[in-house]
Amino acid sequence: MTVYLVGAGPGDPGLLTARALELIAEADVILYDRLIPRSALEGARPDATLIYAGKEGGGPAMPQSEISRLLVSHGRSAGTVVRLKGGDPFVFGRGGEEAEALRSAGVPFEVVPGVTAGVAAAAYAGIPVTHRDAASAVAFVTGHEDPAKPASALDWEALAAFPGTIVVYMGVRQLASIAGRLLAAGRNRVEPAAVISRGTLPAQQVLTGTLETIAADAAAAGLRAPAIAVFGQVAALHERLRWLRSGPLAGVTVAVTRARAQASGLAAKLGALGAEVVEAPAIRISALDGPPPPLASYDLVCLTSPNGVRVLFERMAGAGQDARALAGTKVAAIGPGTAAALAEHGVTADVVPDRFVAEGLVEALADVPITRALVARAAQARDVLPAALRSRGAQVDVVALYETVAEPLDGRRLGAIAAADYVTFTSSSTVRFFFDAAGERLRDDVRLVSIGPVTSAALRERGRVADVEARTHDIDGLVAALVADVAR
Ligand code: SAH
Repeated sequence: MTVYLVGAGPGDPGLLTARALELIAEADVILYDRLIPRSALEGARPDATLIYAGKEGGGPAMPQSEISRLLVSHGRSAGTVVRLKGGDPFVFGRGGEEAEALRSAGVPFEVVPGVTAGVAAAAYAGIPVTHRDAASAVAFVTGHEDPAKPASALDWEALAAFPGTIVVYMGVRQLASIAGRLLAAGRNRVEPAAVISRGTLPAQQVLTGTLETIAADAAAAGLRAPAIAVFGQVAALHERLRWLRSGPLAGVTVAVTRARAQASGLAAKLGALGAEVVEAPAIRISALDGPPPPLASYDLVCLTSPNGVRVLFERMAGAGQDARALAGTKVAAIGPGTAAALAEHGVTADVVPDRFVAEGLVEALADVPITRALVARAAQARDVLPAALRSRGAQVDVVALYETVAEPLDGRRLGAIAAADYVTFTSSSTVRFFFDAAGERLRDDVRLVSIGPVTSAALRERGRVADVEARTHDIDGLVAALVADVAR
């Protein structure tokens, strides 16, 4: 039993240390904060207990005393406990307090330093916090102090006189008062200044100016948290040393309506291109119980979604079967996502059409001799594929493996949806359930992105038009169409 106080870096998943990744993969329990990379928990064990300890949408954070209590109690009972914090755990992360609580309770701990935002966000903005000619010292300062402290613990006079770079970790709203205090204490009003918001992330924004102008400029630009401010000659180097190119979707907010279990891949792709992603899972996949179909009795098995593959293999596993049950059967997948899901189970699809819709699969099967076919799919699905196979004289069975059900969206998500520039739809069920739950929240000028003709038809049924339709009807095609529309 050991508690690891682990830094997760400032946001870019590439800045997680090798040791952090190793411990995340090993942990029995992970207590994590809000400002950790989106993908940081992907490597956690499926049976690990994940506990969120941050604030949700401005709501109250878990009190520090409660976090320390949880660390101590899990530290006593579990094997490996990881306390995962943004940046470095000992830089304004209250890691010191947690270590003290563990020490007092006699729970062994180790510290895994992380890449701190004050250095990394500056670096990603092309600002070296020290420089042989421009800054021989750097001060890290917190602009949001413990609200329980009666007076400011910061000596602003001393800071104003500090001979080097001042890096302030802060809430963006504090910027005006921080700059004001430094000015009042006599710091040079034309000293270069920079604010870096969401540093190291694809949505990074950098604003430069002087100590006197920066707060008004940042407010006008609507810079968002988290952000650091840099005061000092080095801030001016941003103009010459900036190296990060912003992604094609920077500044664009995109809502993803897929079921939560599938949303992360699409969300990650959009995020990597710079989009602000709002996850709005209007649907959930609910597996239907039943025995596995008698696969060996068919000469063709058609799978029409990755969910179908997942549930089919779950049913097979429940009956002690594995991929060998498909040994004598041709397997057709509707598109590359479904084929990839099959590949995960060691099955290479025999047929994958060029057009990833039922009609495409029908065409691709034109030359395949079929007498008995199984179509394994969702409960609510179009009849194009079974009907077309039957019209060729085949005997066709249809098995419903799962159904899509509505997933309630909470107030916070609905609020976020109202800010979306784009909403992506990856199936007709996402269209139906999303409009039932959130259609009224959308902005008038929101643009609707559809994965293909069937989904676009579902939008028309709702009296809406797909502003953008993917040319290739898969996730990459959808992302490409969205990027092209933004560039337009
Ligand atoms: N332990 C963290 C800091 C926690 S305090 C670290 O070492 O980085 C939280 C503050 O860190 C935020 O208010 C913001 O000022 C800063 N911060 C965290 N992530 C950031 C990011 N990606 N870009 C800019 N500032 C960030």
